[in-house]
Amino acid sequence: MAGVLTADECAAPLARVSGSDLQVPLVQGGNRTYVNFDYAASAPALSQVTDRVAALLPTYSSVHRGAGYASRVSTACYEKARESVSRFVGAGEDQVVVFTRNTTDSLNLLAGCVPGSTVVLDIEHHANLLPWKNSRVVRAADTLAETVQLLVAELCSRPTALLAVTGASNVTGEVLPIAALAEVAHRCGARILVDAAQLAPHRRIDIEAWGVDYLVFSGHKLYAPFGAGVLVGRPDWLDAAEPYLAGGGAVRNVTVDSTLWAPAPARHEAGTPNVLGAAALATACDVLSDLDFDRVAEHESALSARIRAGLGSVDGLEFLRLWADVPDTVGIVTFTIDGFEPGEIAAYLSAEHGIGVRDGRFCAHPLLERLGRPTGAVRVSLGLGSTSEDVDRLVHAVCTLVDGKRAWIYVKEEGQWNPVPETRFSPDAQV
Ligand code: PLP
Repeated sequence: MAGVLTADECAAPLARVSGSDLQVPLVQGGNRTYVNFDYAASAPALSQVTDRVAALLPTYSSVHRGAGYASRVSTACYEKARESVSRFVGAGEDQVVVFTRNTTDSLNLLAGCVPGSTVVLDIEHHANLLPWKNSRVVRAADTLAETVQLLVAELCSRPTALLAVTGASNVTGEVLPIAALAEVAHRCGARILVDAAQLAPHRRIDIEAWGVDYLVFSGHKLYAPFGAGVLVGRPDWLDAAEPYLAGGGAVRNVTVDSTLWAPAPARHEAGTPNVLGAAALATACDVLSDLDFDRVAEHESALSARIRAGLGSVDGLEFLRLWADVPDTVGIVTFTIDGFEPGEIAAYLSAEHGIGVRDGRFCAHPLLERLGRPTGAVRVSLGLGSTSEDVDRLVHAVCTLVDGKRAWIYVKEEGQWNPVPETRFSPDAQV
C-alpha cells in the first residue's frame, strides 16, 4: 500500500503533460496558471504522445491496402500499436487487441458478442450499464465484502455469460478486487469484463495474472487524446459474432451473394481506422509500462490525503464513499457542501481561481441516487501532472467560498451556473 509523501515530495509532477503552463483568465481580472483537476473526464496528452503524433504525420497514409512507402509505415505502426497495448495490460498470446473509439464503443462492441446474459452492479458508469442486451443489475451492499457475496449469489443463480465490472469507480475512485471477482465469475461459469477507463491511468494492469477475459479503456483518459480506445480479450466470442460494423477491411472475400468475414480484430474494425489515435494510445501505453506505478499510487494517495485533510473540517462538506472496507482508491476525491450547488462550486472555482473540476452526476445516475446525491457532487480528479501546489490552491479556494468571501455573483441559467457578469469570454474570442 502507498505511504504518505510530504508536500515537498509531491511538489513536482510525475510526467510532462500538455497544458501544464496554460494561462487562463479570471473573472475578476488577470490570469492564472490553470489547475486541471478533471483527469477522470479527459487527461491532457503526455509530451511523448504529442511528439510521436507530430513525428508520424509526414508518413501518415492509408493502412493495410496501400503499396506506397508511407502506407507501409502507417500499417506497421498501426499493427505494432497492438503489441504496446498488449504489453501494457499484460495480455496473453491468445488475446486480441481491437481498436475502437473509446470505452463506450468497446463495451458496445462486446455487448454485441456476448452469447447470454450479463450481470452488472448498480455503481457502474452508464457506458457499462446500458449496452448489455440481457442484463441483471445487482444492487451494491453497504460493504464491498457483502457486495461480492451478492454478486456470487446472482452469478450462480442462473446461467450467466459475463460479469461486467468497473476497475475503479469514476465517482469515488474506489478500486474493486478484480482478481477475486474473476475467480468468482469463473467459479460460476461466467467470464469477466473489466471497464478499466479509470483504473488503467492509475494502477498496473495484469489481465493474465488476474484472470480477466476482456478489458476496455479510452486513450483520452490515458494521456492520448487522439480518438482511440481498445477492447482486449479472448477471440472466440469476437470471431463468432456479427461484425460491429459491416464494410471494407472486415472481410476476407465478398461476392454479390456472400461475404466471408475476417476474424478479430479486423472483423470489428471495418472502415479506415484511426491510425494516429492508435499510435498515440500505444505511445502512452509504452510510457506508462515503464512507469513505477507504486510511485504513481504514492503520489496521488498523498495528494488525495492532502485534499481530504485540507477540506475535512469545512462546515457542511462531505466526501462521497461507497464502502468503508475498500483498501485502495485512485486519485479521485468527490464531495458536496451544504448550502452550495455542485455546479455553483465548480463555476466559482473556474471563474475566480482558474481551477477545472467536474460537477454533476458523472454518467452514473443510479450511483449518485444510492449515495443520496441525486442532484450531483463535485469531483476532483488527479493525474500525472498534479502537484501539492495545485491541491493547496483548491483548498484555499474552497475555504474562501465557504467563508463567504467570493468576489463575484453566480446565477443559474438553463441549468448551468455562470458568473455574472461574465468577463472572461468576449463574443469575438477565438477558441
Ligand atoms: N467507464 C468509466 C468508468 C468512465 O469513467 C467513463 C468515462 O468517464 C466511461 C466508461 C466512458 O468512457 P468514454 O467516454 O471514453 O467512452
